[in-house]
Formats: sequence, C-alpha cells, structure tokens
Amino acid sequence: MRILEGKTLSARILAALPARIEAVKARQGRPPSLAIVNYFPDSPSAVYVSRKTAACAKLGITTKLFRPDQAGGIQAFRTLLAALGADTAYDAIMLERPLPDGFETLETWDSLPAAKDVDGLSSLNMGRLFISKKLSEIETAGFFVPCTALAVIRLLEFHGIAPSGMNIAVAGRSAVVGRPLAHMLTSLDATVTLCHTRSRDIPAILRAADMVITAVGRAGWLKKEMLAPGALLIDVGTNFDAAGKMCGDADFEGISQVAAAATPVPGGVGPVTMACLIEAAVKAAELTPKMEKGGITLT
Ligand code: NAP
Repeated sequence: MRILEGKTLSARILAALPARIEAVKARQGRPPSLAIVNYFPDSPSAVYVSRKTAACAKLGITTKLFRPDQAGGIQAFRTLLAALGADTAYDAIMLERPLPDGFETLETWDSLPAAKDVDGLSSLNMGRLFISKKLSEIETAGFFVPCTALAVIRLLEFHGIAPSGMNIAVAGRSAVVGRPLAHMLTSLDATVTLCHTRSRDIPAILRAADMVITAVGRAGWLKKEMLAPGALLIDVGTNFDAAGKMCGDADFEGISQVAAAATPVPGGVGPVTMACLIEAAVKAAELTPKMEKGGITLT
C-alpha cells in the first residue's frame, strides 16, 4: 500500500512563506500575528496549539494564546472573539476545537470578522466558499476556507490524485471538515456521498467508493471490510487509542491489506492542515490593508 504522507507537503508550504512574511513586515512594521483561542487547556488541542506556536515562531510569525474565561459562558467567549476581531495587533484568529456543547453556532462564528477568520467558519467566508463553483476561484479569492478541508485537497494534488470522475464517500458532515470538503471535491468534478450517523448501510456506501475520506473522530471505526479492494483512503480522524497513542479513524493495519493508498495518522492530513492554517494567517496579514469594517474585499 502506498503511503500518502503529509510532512513533505507541509514543509513545502511553509518554505514558501518567508518572503511573504518579510513583505508584510516591511509594509506594516511588524510580522503577521495570529491569536489562538483554546477553550479547554487540557484537551488534545493543546498539542496542536504548541505545534502551531513552534512552527510560527520558526517563521517569525507572532502568536498569542487566549484561554477564555469559562465562568463567563458563551457570552464572554463571543465577547473575547469580537475584541480580538477589533484588535489591530492581530491579523488572524484561530479557534481550537472542541468547544463546549452549544458553542458552535452561527452567532459564534460570526463573532469573528471574516478578514481574520483563517479557518473560514464565519458565514461570509462559508457563503463565499459554497457560492464558488471552481476550486481555482476558492484558492485565489480573498477569503478563507476551512483549513482541514483545503489540506485534503492539497494532499491529493501533491500525490497526483485527481478526484475528477471519482465516486468519493466522505464520512462526517461537520461544518469544518466534511461539508466544505464535499463541496471542494464536487468543484473538482468528483461525485460525492456525504455520510453521517443517520446514513443507512455505511459499509455498502464506502465499499462502492473509489476513495473514502473519514472525519468521524472514532479510533478503529473504519475496518478493512468497509473498503473496496484498491480504494484510496484519506483519514482525517485524530484520535487517541487506549494507550494514549495518536491514531486515525481507520484500523490502519487492516486497511493496509486492502487499500491502494492511505494517509498515515500522525503524519498525513494533520501537518498539511497546520501549514495551510499558517499560510492563511500570512494571507490575512497581506489582506489587512484591503480590509473593510467587518469583512474583506474580494480580490
Ligand atoms: P465532529 O464535529 O464531531 O463531526 C463528526 C462527524 O462524524 C459528524 O458529522 C457525525 O455525524 C459523524 N459520525 C460520528 N460517528 C459516526 C458514525 N459512527 N457513523 C457515521 N458518522 C459518524 O468532528 P470534526 O470536527 O469534523 O472532526 C472529525 C475528526 O477529524 C476528529 O477526529 C478530529 O479530531 C479530526 N480532525 C482532524 C484534523 C486534522 O488536521 N487532521 C482537523 C480537524 C479535525 P452526525 O452529524 O450525524 O452527528
């Protein structure tokens, strides 16, 4: 089975940023700066926060970590996002998940100004994504898209896999991964089936697919019996097994007997997502002069 690793692409994306960062510094007198909001300091997101912070530091991008006041509930949380949105010290804002139940609402995402919303969650960015029919419009326009979905697309392209004409099953329909990814793949002329907890006979749907993309969040969920021989597997899941080891949604050993190619976890989609996020933070700093109040100007 071919391994679709993501570290090389991640390094390539990051290696293209120093000149852009220097240009931002020359123009605004400071490097790009990213505010990271992490609600649960003890969740696995702390690991990703420290990786992002270290990668940004290496590139000379400023980061600041915010831990919302949990006693203040959702209102205090949104107030923090709005304050960061208005603070000219930050070009970009990244919201780590998980968030408490009930926090992931339109009002929360729209507390982020679209111009700083580097994970593309606010309604303006989402709307622009879903109105775009071609991936080229999505990649070059002055708005932001969910980084994980974009990372999957970039990883496929890097490994020379063209989704056009493929039947692709995406398991997981969250606003940050499954839904935007299904739209991006459709814009690349794939035929996409989006599965979720209410889908009937998921194994049959997955077995009929040329490519399966899982973003379910359950270790060992995808068994080899659920894949067609020779299928491609992109595992977005980031879970921890009983021994505390990071793993994806797939039983990797099992599927490696069936799949033609698969992403590893760790070392697959994750590093590319991080690079896409950092690239988006640089793009936010580049867009700053074009910023309109509460939105961004399309380029
Ligand atoms: P989420 O918001 O919890 O959504 C999970 C989705 O999976 C939901 O749509 C849910 O269906 C579906 N689902 C759950 N159990 C299922 C089952 N047994 N059968 C079918 N569908 C099922 O999660 P998320 O934020 O999208 O993240 C998904 C996974 O990706 C997590 O492991 C997360 O850590 C990982 N992730 C990785 C990266 C990366 O860079 N590698 C980035 C982001 C997230 P319903 O809608 O019906 O509930």
